[in-house]
Amino acid sequence: MSEKRYITSVAFIGLGNMGGPMASRLAGRGFKVHGFDLSPEARQRLSDAGGEAHETPSAAVASADAVILMLPSSAVVEKVILDDEVLAALQPGAVIIDMSSSEPGRTVKLAATLHDRGHILLDAPVSGGVRGAESGNLTIMAGGDQAHLQEVLPVLEKLGYTTRIGPVGAGHALKALNNLMSATHLLISSEAILAGEKFGIEPAVMLDAVNGSSGRSGSTENKWPNFILPGTFNSGFNLSLMVKDMGIAVSLAESLGVSNQLGECATALWRQAQNELPEGADHTEIVKWLRQKTR
Ligand code: NAD
Repeated sequence: MSEKRYITSVAFIGLGNMGGPMASRLAGRGFKVHGFDLSPEARQRLSDAGGEAHETPSAAVASADAVILMLPSSAVVEKVILDDEVLAALQPGAVIIDMSSSEPGRTVKLAATLHDRGHILLDAPVSGGVRGAESGNLTIMAGGDQAHLQEVLPVLEKLGYTTRIGPVGAGHALKALNNLMSATHLLISSEAILAGEKFGIEPAVMLDAVNGSSGRSGSTENKWPNFILPGTFNSGFNLSLMVKDMGIAVSLAESLGVSNQLGECATALWRQAQNELPEGADHTEIVKWLRQKTR
């Protein structure tokens, strides 16, 4: 890299539950944000927050120093960024940051393809949910070249705390593994809490005690008290996206020859829940599925 670039404008593609608040934060904190989403409502929300919404992804990337993608999957990321019009519109040497939870193997290949065209890909998936996106408290797991990461840190630091995990793809690998852990915790803690409840113990009492004990996790400290006990089930993280992430982690472990028996078992149960719950269910609704199974 020849000289340090200062990023003032960002293209943000994918303005959904996560991308919407993230793009709005950047727009409210000194960056010129050019956004695109297939949904007109999502584009309108960005305009309302002070960003500029565009009708096509190529128009959004055309004058941006960096491009952020916050899309459902690797397949959508590739479709968007490898589109001929988008490739033609990208600034020379543009840094593209895939903040979606994508597949690490595909990310490595995409980085090579983009590199051949003179562009840089970093992966920077996030943890912290919609609340973290709104408050700028996301945990960002970055993969890719340190110098390019340094260049985009002023943008990322408005969204949360960034740790460089390793080379490109490492962030996506860790994100999938994190969600495999998180989903497995949620499943086992929910099974245990439902058993305790049937025994006659109030879930709130159990959570209070467990959160001072060794059984605690993000599920008992955050998901149960904030989204399950109040009965709102509105974490903003779709169950199908969780199942996607678990599938990525299980495939990764399999490709590496690492034993992942519990992970495979948990993933099979989550897939069953996905088939039996209504489409679009929040991932915290796994508890509703478990309740349906209770005799
Ligand atoms: P979402 O479904 O709310 O948002 C995705 C957005 O992408 C939608 O607005 C959709 O219209 C848009 N989109 C789809 N195809 C597109 C295309 N071809 N061009 C432009 N826009 C397109 O999903 P989300 O919850 O915001 O998740 C986004 C990513 O972040 C996923 O990879 C997810 O796994 C990850 N993630 C989500 C959470 C969470 O709590 N929701 C937390 C961490 C990571």
